[in-house]
Amino acid sequence: MELSGHMTKIVCTIGPASRSEAVLEELMKNGMDVARLNFAHGSLEDHREVIGRIRAIAAKLHRGCMILGDLPGPKIRIGKLQNQPLLLNKEDEISLTTEDVPGTAARIPVGYPKLPQSVSAGRTIYLNDGFIQLQVQEVSGFDVRCKVVIGGELLSYKGLNIPGAKIDLDVITEQDLGFVDFGLREGIDAFSISFVEKAADILKVRAFAKERGESLYVVAKIERVEAIDRIDEILNAADAVMIARGDLGVQIPLEDVPAVQKKLIHKANLMNRPVITATQMLVSMTQNVRPTRAEVSDAANAILDGTDAVMLSEETAVGKYPAEAVAMLAKIAASIERQREEIDALSDLAEYFRKGPGREGISAEETISLNAIETARSLNARYILVPTQNGDAARRLSRFKPGCWILSFCDDEKTRNLLALSFGVLPVLMKREERGDPDAVKRYLIDAGLSQKNDRLILTQRATAGRPDDIDSLRVLTI
Ligand code: PGA
Ligand code: MN
Repeated sequence: MELSGHMTKIVCTIGPASRSEAVLEELMKNGMDVARLNFAHGSLEDHREVIGRIRAIAAKLHRGCMILGDLPGPKIRIGKLQNQPLLLNKEDEISLTTEDVPGTAARIPVGYPKLPQSVSAGRTIYLNDGFIQLQVQEVSGFDVRCKVVIGGELLSYKGLNIPGAKIDLDVITEQDLGFVDFGLREGIDAFSISFVEKAADILKVRAFAKERGESLYVVAKIERVEAIDRIDEILNAADAVMIARGDLGVQIPLEDVPAVQKKLIHKANLMNRPVITATQMLVSMTQNVRPTRAEVSDAANAILDGTDAVMLSEETAVGKYPAEAVAMLAKIAASIERQREEIDALSDLAEYFRKGPGREGISAEETISLNAIETARSLNARYILVPTQNGDAARRLSRFKPGCWILSFCDDEKTRNLLALSFGVLPVLMKREERGDPDAVKRYLIDAGLSQKNDRLILTQRATAGRPDDIDSLRVLTI
């Protein structure tokens, strides 16, 4: 038996680009641990064939492979486009319709009969995980007329999101239960549930399986606000979770996704639930044989966050380089895993500063800079104030990334401009006589509207003559 070169598990979504025996075998050899079948696409006959192939290849390679059946749930999708990709340009007028028509630039079919009742003029609709943005102009009959706000290329059956709208669809649809039934008969190992809202959604699927004398391994896909709000009950009811960043990034502000990812991974680890970080991991590899630096970093950072598994979606389902994408993830995982301990030890600079190797006998000014940060945190200070000649004193504080701003008083413009680069530093020009006088500094803060009565301030400065940016005093001031 041979150990894999990496420990992070890799989930591959199987689709037209990867359903052949040859590609499936390559994926498995390159590091696929879990094959995800997306029931939103392909016929049951297609899925049955793929399941058979995966089992045969795994047996031939003397290894296991989880087959994960993904239940689409209430995911709203557009229908088939007559010609694809369909290019939508900014300012184009298009209609979404609940009528079953071939999709064209004028009218695009949508598989949600209540769409016209769910939106009104002004509402934003997203297509394809938010890549394309539409604004509703008018609802009439079966049609919702929209203006393209952000254009792009659209493919058949892409997802549609209307953040904030009440969608009148069950989380677990009849169709989903049909897929569970099929999956159980075909020996699928686990099921992922899309758009989970509450524990009851998971229990409903479990109950359905129980009637058939089966117990299920359930992965809850976290991709809506309600799920984040009820994460504890969901984690309790599920066996594992997926951070489904695709839909999540449309349902919540995109910029909130990284924090949600970190918190969810932490919580899943704490509660002993394996966690998959999913979507756009190496999405540029759908077209290119090499990913972007940002994607490589994202995958590595998810691993550092503590994810158990990383997932590929269109990269392996419809991409040009499915085998290369898996090989790339395997390499990224191997590299970062080798260095995880070393990197984790660096993650808290203050801790390292105190106890790291070679840190004995550090200078008074360095110790004071660390203490200024800690004092600011424990007193919930408004600012740390630091007079500086050349910027060094401010940078010594900034490197610890404090939670409050560092107001750095400097006497020349050059220093002020150079401090533009340093985290959390607001450089302020102030004459040398003034900045040495705490009362003058307080007056300045009040006059500038930066501070109010009772604000706590931490002032670090040079109390005695010495080198220009030496700090040897730490004072607590109150406005
Ligand atoms: P999907 O789920 O690919 O089935 O939509 C993952 C996600 O939303 O990120
Ligand atoms: Mn999704």
